[in-house]
Amino acid sequence: MALIVQKFGGTSVADTQKILAAARKAIRERRAGNQVVMVVSAMGKQTDHLIELAHELSEHPNTREMDMLLSTGEQVTIALMAIALESLGYKAVSFTGAQIGIRTDATYSRARIRSISTDRMKRALDEGKIVIAAGFQGIDDDFNITTLGRGGSDTTAVALAAALQADRCDIYTDVDGVYTTDPRVVPEARRVERISYDEMLELASMGAGVMHSRSIEFAKKFGVLVHVRSSFSDNPGTVIGPNPERVDAPVCGAALAKDETRVSVYGVPDKPGVAMKLFSRLADAKIPTDMIAQSSSAAGKTDVSFTVQSDDAYKAKEVVENIVGEIGAESYDIDEKVAKVSVVGLGMLHQTGVAQKLFHALSECGVNIIMIATSDIKISALVNRDDAVKALRAAHSAFQLDVEPTKEELEASNGVNATVANFDHGVSARLISHLAGMEDVVVESIDLDEGQARVTLYSLPDVPGLAATVFDRVAEGHVIVDMIVQSSGRDNLANITFTIPRDELEAVVAVADRLCETYGCNSEFDARAAKLTVRGSGLRSHTGLAFRMFRTLGEGNVNVSVISLSERCAAVIVDEAHGKSGRENLIKEFSEETF
Ligand code: ASP
Ligand code: MG
Repeated sequence: MALIVQKFGGTSVADTQKILAAARKAIRERRAGNQVVMVVSAMGKQTDHLIELAHELSEHPNTREMDMLLSTGEQVTIALMAIALESLGYKAVSFTGAQIGIRTDATYSRARIRSISTDRMKRALDEGKIVIAAGFQGIDDDFNITTLGRGGSDTTAVALAAALQADRCDIYTDVDGVYTTDPRVVPEARRVERISYDEMLELASMGAGVMHSRSIEFAKKFGVLVHVRSSFSDNPGTVIGPNPERVDAPVCGAALAKDETRVSVYGVPDKPGVAMKLFSRLADAKIPTDMIAQSSSAAGKTDVSFTVQSDDAYKAKEVVENIVGEIGAESYDIDEKVAKVSVVGLGMLHQTGVAQKLFHALSECGVNIIMIATSDIKISALVNRDDAVKALRAAHSAFQLDVEPTKEELEASNGVNATVANFDHGVSARLISHLAGMEDVVVESIDLDEGQARVTLYSLPDVPGLAATVFDRVAEGHVIVDMIVQSSGRDNLANITFTIPRDELEAVVAVADRLCETYGCNSEFDARAAKLTVRGSGLRSHTGLAFRMFRTLGEGNVNVSVISLSERCAAVIVDEAHGKSGRENLIKEFSEETF
């Protein structure tokens, strides 16, 4: 007898007819002899509706009361689902998050799951009942109701599948699988047959709407096989697991995060620990930051730019406003009209020219890139919100994401376990008992690469096509570029920093000289750069982690010049002389998270 977790999103339970249809899907599994746990969302747009009500009363409603309010949406659905199942002649029982013991931390509106007690669910399952669990909610140590963040029912479902060691987790939704990008925005988008955990995690965390990114983090960590499928058709859907769809494609998908905000703090004193103070405040306020770019401006000063989701813009502004005077920065500015386009793919790990291709695609349609950030399997470009759709389309077609894989390609990637997920249930059981919280970060390794050099070009004109031109020139010398960061400074000037293998530096210096002649910019080189990489899972979305990394390095007086963050990899460029001690300090700092 297998154990199946089925999750139904808001549109799949929007009215009583749909609730009956979902109930029948559970019954089908039950009749096939399986045990079934259903996880349901609030009906239709109920959560939005409740939020609107609160906002009629207050601009910034109390977060504890918001969670109290929003959790009611799911509670309605579980009861109706149980009633539906019983009306169809099947035994069922509904549970709230508290009743099944989903313990979370006390961070209202985006609580993280610490533990789940499975006893009560197992007892009900053994009595032959279909268990219906409320998604999106839990309780903290003081029995306050918490919620996991918008879309959090996915995370409940995968977490339950992990805790119950389910054989499968089926996510029923209003689309029939995972697409190369949002088909409502790019009609050529195509459903993928399968996608690896790492790729899906990155896409979800970069704005692909299909799944809550934390649910994929769970899936990867505990080896849960996730099947995304339509509530309204019997199409095959998409399997999220260890294997990519094809091994040799550089990019598997593109994502658009439309509501981003850029924050720049100018003229920050360039002393160890100052920029860190800013990020520590943001981390304290639980504001996830992305696309961090730092670059020296005038002597002894540096500009720091980063992006936050527009939902957090108001809180970020408050933090920045308070800290500017405190750290002696000159000014700051905030642009709330930007969007982030990202391309993701495991194939990037061993292919060159991928970033360049994206820059070209954007340049050809006249889109200006405001910021660039890359990591091992992702490239993000920040653009004006008005250009966002155009940029996404251009990226999608540049990487031919609409082209179906051939049978051979599908077969070739079949046994390719590209992710770390060699986790069998035994390992995941050990992990669960080892982790203080199920959603805690897992660190796999901390590596040092001493053979790097850093190149920075300052005060480039911030115009469409800039990055394409710069990296074309660099590529002419057959140089393999690793990390790329672009930030726009004041006065419509941009800085671009990238890293290369050290023995390529001479060739790149010549290229940089020519670029400086063309653009009237300045360049700076660090021939003795080293890269420190922390690999693991959930590294980007756990806001505190990057901060702990900077703090640890800062306390050892290690100056960080380039930062790159993805879910599976956090990398920084430091001075080579500090590489070894930096690595040792990081190993100490993350000893508890390392397995
Ligand atoms: N009802 C919640 C929301 O709309 C949780 C979910 O649907 O996953 O965000
Ligand atoms: Mg939802």
